[in-house]
Amino acid sequence: MLSQVVELIESKSRFAITTHIKPDGDGIGSSLGLCWLLRSLGKQADVHINGSIPISYQSLPGADEIRDTTEIEDGYDAVFVMECSDIDRPGIAGLERQLTVNIDHHATSEHFGTINWIDSTASAVGEMIYNLCKAIGGRITKEIAECVYMALVTDTGSFHFSNTSERTLKVASELVKAGARPAKISEAVYNNYPWSRIELMRQVLDTVKRDETGRVASLRQTMAMQTDSGSVDGDNNGFVNIPLAARDVVAVVYMREIEPNVYRCSLRSKGDVNVARVAEQFGGGGHKNAAGLGVEGDWDQKERELIEALKEAISRSEDIVDPSAQLAA
Ligand code: 5GP
Ligand code: MN
Repeated sequence: MLSQVVELIESKSRFAITTHIKPDGDGIGSSLGLCWLLRSLGKQADVHINGSIPISYQSLPGADEIRDTTEIEDGYDAVFVMECSDIDRPGIAGLERQLTVNIDHHATSEHFGTINWIDSTASAVGEMIYNLCKAIGGRITKEIAECVYMALVTDTGSFHFSNTSERTLKVASELVKAGARPAKISEAVYNNYPWSRIELMRQVLDTVKRDETGRVASLRQTMAMQTDSGSVDGDNNGFVNIPLAARDVVAVVYMREIEPNVYRCSLRSKGDVNVARVAEQFGGGGHKNAAGLGVEGDWDQKERELIEALKEAISRSEDIVDPSAQLAA
């Protein structure tokens, strides 16, 4: 919990920080935010991530110092593991030998750390880093503000997903006051892709369809599309959300072929439709409105199974989203 994290930081001096492979804005933003917080407290802190940093996040302060590694050397007092469901998610060997601090906002997190601080009410792990800064009596520097704002803006879909709370907006406001520039950060994330993203989008949208109820939409990304479009990791960010723009669509499944018969799946929903439960049924996890999983097998069959599970989740949900009613409610 938070008090243990504060105590640990106060009593130790050398920290490593890591997050999951294929890091997103929250993974990187919260890691760098914590790194700057620790440094502002006079501690040594380094961020170690397995893999390269997507271009959207390369302009964050400290991004150029992130070490691309599969192993964290001895000599740190503790390793912070940010936004990870389990100890294997960072793809870093030997973590189980270290004193680890698991910081996450997924209710489904395994409590794998020596210390575990899980807050499923936080919109992003970045929001937790803001809370940590306040709890430890730190000052929100411009560097912390920019990194934590990046975490917030990406994990809340620019403050329009259901995890956006009064608290989130208050934190965002404080970050802007401390020097984060919303337009600059949004440009870096949303208007900074290569043309291959547009080409990939064209091909993926060609596959979009709805089930017979019109409530569930599905999209596919084949390996060939990735090659043909010349796209790179991250070019498909957000494609899964596109069908949610249709009033009647309340759940989406996006299946990306990573090798023949092996797929990474993203699930998204509106309102009370709980896709985290659906992901868990298939061995994955996530949040109520955004979850993910991996499946293997026949593409059509797996897609049918996922669509059926989403239809069941819709029938279990209390309010079927009616956007006009929602605003009035
Ligand atoms: P995305 O669809 O963007 O990959 O993931 C959406 C959410 O689901 C994220 O919060 C992510 O952490 C979670 N998620 C995605 N894939 C998995 C998975 O295989 N296992 C678990 N536990 N969570 C996942
Ligand atoms: Mn997150």
